[in-house]
Amino acid sequence: MPSSGRGGWRAVTRSLRFRLTVSYVVLFMVALVAIGLGFRGLLSSASRRQVEQTLEEEFGEVKGFLRLERGKPVWFFDRQDPDEAVIVARLRNGVFVLADSTGSILEASSLSRQIGLQSRAEIVRVLAANRPILRLLRDPEGEEYVLREGILVDGQAHYFVALGLSLADSNRLIGQFTKAYFLLVPLGLVLIGWAGWWFAGRALAPVVGIANAAREISSSNLTLRLAPPGSNDELENLVATFNGMMERLEQSFNQVRQFSTDVSHELRTPLTVIRGHLEVALMTAKTPEQYQDSIHTALQDVERISHIVRALLQLSQAESGQLALQKQPVDLVALIDELREQYVMTGEDRGIRFELNLPEMAVVEGDRVQLERLITNLVTNAIKYSHEGGLISISIALLEHDVELVVEDRGRGIAPTDIPHIFDRFYRVRSHDSSPEKGLGLGLSFVAWIAKAHGGSIRVESAVGQGSRFIVSLPVPEEGLESSNELRDSKA
Ligand code: ADP
Repeated sequence: MPSSGRGGWRAVTRSLRFRLTVSYVVLFMVALVAIGLGFRGLLSSASRRQVEQTLEEEFGEVKGFLRLERGKPVWFFDRQDPDEAVIVARLRNGVFVLADSTGSILEASSLSRQIGLQSRAEIVRVLAANRPILRLLRDPEGEEYVLREGILVDGQAHYFVALGLSLADSNRLIGQFTKAYFLLVPLGLVLIGWAGWWFAGRALAPVVGIANAAREISSSNLTLRLAPPGSNDELENLVATFNGMMERLEQSFNQVRQFSTDVSHELRTPLTVIRGHLEVALMTAKTPEQYQDSIHTALQDVERISHIVRALLQLSQAESGQLALQKQPVDLVALIDELREQYVMTGEDRGIRFELNLPEMAVVEGDRVQLERLITNLVTNAIKYSHEGGLISISIALLEHDVELVVEDRGRGIAPTDIPHIFDRFYRVRSHDSSPEKGLGLGLSFVAWIAKAHGGSIRVESAVGQGSRFIVSLPVPEEGLESSNELRDSKA
């Protein structure tokens, strides 16, 4: 037991180990008391039954030895036979009452007079009931007797016979048993408490181990994992869950760390370039054209920096729910038509070709700016990750409840291990080839957010070296027909 005062004691009483032990003890106490009481009840009913059976036998003996001659009781037995004499003496000296049909006592032992004789009315009632009655009686000293009141038939006449036996012996035995048992119960409970404390300690030891190991973990050693106990039970499950959580934490920590590195890198390069340009301009530029040229290049880099910062800001606004969608009917086919030239231009230097497979119109209820961003992100990725001269196809299918937009390329594809992560914020597949493309790993997170915010979804099918298919499903609005008609009317 702890010696560190009240705080320590309170900590112990709150501990799972203590509560488990107390539960054991309480449970055992209830069980032991119930068993004791049940056993006591069984013992007393067995001894009562035994006494009743003996009374039945004694009644048989009375019938054998007692004759009534003109209403007078006469005991017939072989006076030479010591056994018979003893039996008759026992019967007559025990609780014995004999009365005639009017209720007058013919013979009563002194013991039965001590206990209290039956009244006339009682005797008449037993005779009228015409069946033996068993009763429990207490003498003035409180000793218990079982009384059997029955009927003795002699010719036409009916007589009342009461026999009784004391329960004192069996009560004493039961009393001794009860006392001994209930004296042993506290001792048993102490033993059970001690064993419970020990078992609970043993069972909870791995939990304490887990807590100690978890305490060792900090952001600098996220690689730490707990050793599975190999017990194939809840604790094993707990350790596995804990390790799984550590795995995910480590991954996100690494992603964030990687992201900070990427952001600083992304921002540092244009900043260095701007600085270089400006320094050179300051030292070497002579003519206004040269100044203008330098400022122009610097502005381009500033533009790149603000693009990165804007993307970051918007994504965090989107994910924290601060970016409200301005919904209106948007025809995706018209939108792609508008953007088409821009895409073609972007892919031109690398000889990338486009193939469009679009219906007449595909109206969804959405935010035009965000839908444009979704399509542009998918198409720029397709361009970025295509080989030179590659083919990109953009198609739209009108399904019953959805509009399905598919952007497909024949580029480098995505490994199955990366697929589950590409929509994660900051996740980028490390490229082994020295591809010049750069990114922050934010594009697809944004795309996924936009699809979800429109009540839709995005999935990807891809094979390394063969290309990728990004499929976006957007729900057709309930009043889809109406809005597409509106749109058609407004176009007309
Ligand atoms: P990034 O700015 O790096 O392109 P994204 O979020 O747009 O970030 O994409 C995440 C990662 O998914 C990319 O780093 C890239 O490896 C992979 N990816 C996205 N689109 C494609 C594609 N069409 N083909 C192959 N890989 C792709």
